[in-house]
Amino acid sequence: MNLSEIRLHTPQTLNEALELSVKIKEACFLAGGTDLLVDIKQGLLAAKDIISLQEIKELKGIKKKNKEIRLGALVTPNDILSDSLINRYIPALADAARSMASTQIRAVATIGGNISSAVPSADLPPPLIAAEASVKLQGLESSRKVSLSEFFRGPRETACKTGELLTFILIPLLPPGTGISYLKFTLREANALAVASVASRVTLKDGKINRAAIVLGAVAPTPIMALRASEFLINREPSQSTFEKAALLAKEEGEPISDIRGSIWYRKELISVLTRRTLSEALERAQRKNRKEK
Ligand SMILES: Cc1cc2nc3c(=O)[nH]c(=O)nc-3n(C[C@H](O)[C@H](O)[C@H](O)COP(=O)(O)OP(=O)(O)OC[C@H]3O[C@@H](n4cnc5c(N)ncnc54)[C@H](O)[C@@H]3O)c2cc1C
Repeated sequence: MNLSEIRLHTPQTLNEALELSVKIKEACFLAGGTDLLVDIKQGLLAAKDIISLQEIKELKGIKKKNKEIRLGALVTPNDILSDSLINRYIPALADAARSMASTQIRAVATIGGNISSAVPSADLPPPLIAAEASVKLQGLESSRKVSLSEFFRGPRETACKTGELLTFILIPLLPPGTGISYLKFTLREANALAVASVASRVTLKDGKINRAAIVLGAVAPTPIMALRASEFLINREPSQSTFEKAALLAKEEGEPISDIRGSIWYRKELISVLTRRTLSEALERAQRKNRKEK
């Protein structure tokens, strides 16, 4: 489809955007356009009407309110990696943003688009799921909060319904003694999607692991929690041998496919290596936080 044939709507407020999406049911939302415009150009999507979100000020900014950090859907990877709140409370999200694409893409892509595209290799969902983040979905008449771990339904399929817009990402402040780490493996340094990625979270209490989460990216139709591996860690003292065993369990929980970027065998090996490394870094961050809080 030729881009010049598309009607571009530029609402100034959230309400105007929602009204337009009710009026023009087949219209697509556009945030940074780094996924949407590629899909249109490649003929994967035929959109006659596009509703640009770019002018909507309500969807910008990162704020701490009560016991959570709230990111507007239009926040870019560059906003995330340079934000002091994110670097203080959830540096793993800044690491994930830094690992994305290239400087140019990081300046225009958005967190709302990264989540809404529901591409299994997307970088921001794994650390967000490890942090128990949720998203706010706003319709014209009502809104609802959905846990990010339940938002993804399949590749490019989400819980967001027609007429709803993802407005905010809500991250609860992590309990004391918590560390999260995110690592991805790519075939080259820039503009490369993850072959496999892992976000691990560890919460320490009285020298033992009190809570844990291992989230796998790019190795299943959606980001998935490695439940058996995460549960294995609970009530254990953190050690390299414990992390090795958890990594072997996580490897069995991935459901990768073989494609141009890597085989099933290779991706499973990556899960194991990345799980071990992210658990070690999450532990270091948790211990550092514990020392600061004392
Ligand atoms: C060269 C290149 C390299 C890339 N590298 C990476 C990478 O390393 N890691 C990575 O994770 N991604 C990567 N991407 C993919 C892309 O940049 C990201 O997924 C980006 O965050 C998408 O955000 P966007 O604002 O551009 O989304 P858009 O393209 O504007 O939108 C994407 C989809 O989400 C919908 N949408 C957008 N915002 C909302 C909203 N608020 N509510 C409801 N629906 C919405 C749109 O309708 C569309 O269907 C790359 C893309 C390119 C072109």
